[in-house]
Amino acid sequence: MAEKIVIIGSGPAGHTAAIYAARANLNPVMFEGFMAGGIAAGGQLTTTTEVENFPGFPDGIDGTKLTDLFREQSKKYGTTIHTQTVTKVDFSKRPFKIYCDDEVTEAEAVIIATGATAKRMNIQGEHDYWQRGISACAVCDGALPIFRNKDLAVIGGGDSAVEEASHLTKFGSKVYLIHRRDKLRASQIMQDRALNNPKIEMVWNTVVSEAKGGAGGLQSLVLENTVDGSKKELAVGGLFYAIGHKPNTDIFTEFLELDETGYIITKPGTTYTSVEGVFAAGDVQDKTYRQAITAAGSGCMAALEAERWLESQH
Ligand code: FAD
Ligand code: NDP
Repeated sequence: MAEKIVIIGSGPAGHTAAIYAARANLNPVMFEGFMAGGIAAGGQLTTTTEVENFPGFPDGIDGTKLTDLFREQSKKYGTTIHTQTVTKVDFSKRPFKIYCDDEVTEAEAVIIATGATAKRMNIQGEHDYWQRGISACAVCDGALPIFRNKDLAVIGGGDSAVEEASHLTKFGSKVYLIHRRDKLRASQIMQDRALNNPKIEMVWNTVVSEAKGGAGGLQSLVLENTVDGSKKELAVGGLFYAIGHKPNTDIFTEFLELDETGYIITKPGTTYTSVEGVFAAGDVQDKTYRQAITAAGSGCMAALEAERWLESQH
């Protein structure tokens, strides 16, 4: 017999959807993933330390601890959680089919909450200083004490890079915006904001090849000029990647409408996808806000919309 609701993904969006669906007696089944996209079940928050902007935790909370609490709450209200990665779906007819290798589960409605992965550069030293000076989210981590009054660097030339560099000027003493070309990709208004900010210094035609530091964390970067190949070292206390995200949507491309960068397109103001009965929540359909609380909010919307849609089918 088909499940009423299957939730694919286990970050704040998936678990909020699960809590709402479970409390509506829909007996949700969640596939939380097993190192899906290289990230532990629980999602992107498992890759960070302090989360200081999720309401309810005035002293901050460890990212993994927060995801453990989400999971506990989902289970408490009756969500069945499978630690498996969904490898294939068939949304061509109802009930929908969800595959974990050869195992198939049928569902009347599906909520997709598979998130997105911030791209990393895998430079030398990245592993040693990840979350000890290197981050992929300035909005999330920029205000942490380790970055206060330090010289910081952002890599990228798009809107995110400019936005993150501007944001970091509130905390750092100076922000280097390091871009591999001599022209930003960011929109003109964002470019103007960066170029006119006295605390932002552009470092053009440059890539970072190595992160160096010590027991206290990141201390400097090795820079390489992309035009003449020259190298130099830049002292910074923080490095933020803003080189784009990859939404986890490979298994849905055949069935759902995606935008040109692979994000699921939802009907504005809702979580409805291009397939009736399939809903999408969180970072997998949001390239603007990308925060735990906005992901959770859209997870709530997806569960309520799925519940109403299921009712309308009987
Ligand atoms: P995700 O958290 O991306 O979770 C989706 C999860 O679904 C995946 O990780 C995986 O486990 C699972 N999954 C994926 N594919 C499959 C599949 N095929 N089958 C089964 N399961 C699958 N936000 C804040 O608000 N505050 C912060 O302080 C903060 N810090 C951050 C620090 C870092 C380093 C990063 C990278 C992000 C941070 N964010 C922060 C952003 C926040 O983590 C994301 O916005 C949020 O986690 C998105 O939630 P989500 O539910 O959409 O998906
Ligand atoms: P983008 O893909 O637009 O930009 C990524 C940037 O990173 C590019 O400048 C790219 O360089 C650079 N880059 C990529 N890979 C590497 C690498 N390996 N080494 C060095 N540099 C690299 O991503 P964004 O996250 O900035 O934006 C995604 C979307 O979200 C865009 O549509 C953007 O407009 C939108 N957005 C809008 C905002 C707003 O309006 N306020 C805020 C944030 C995002 P290159 O240019 O050479 O390719």
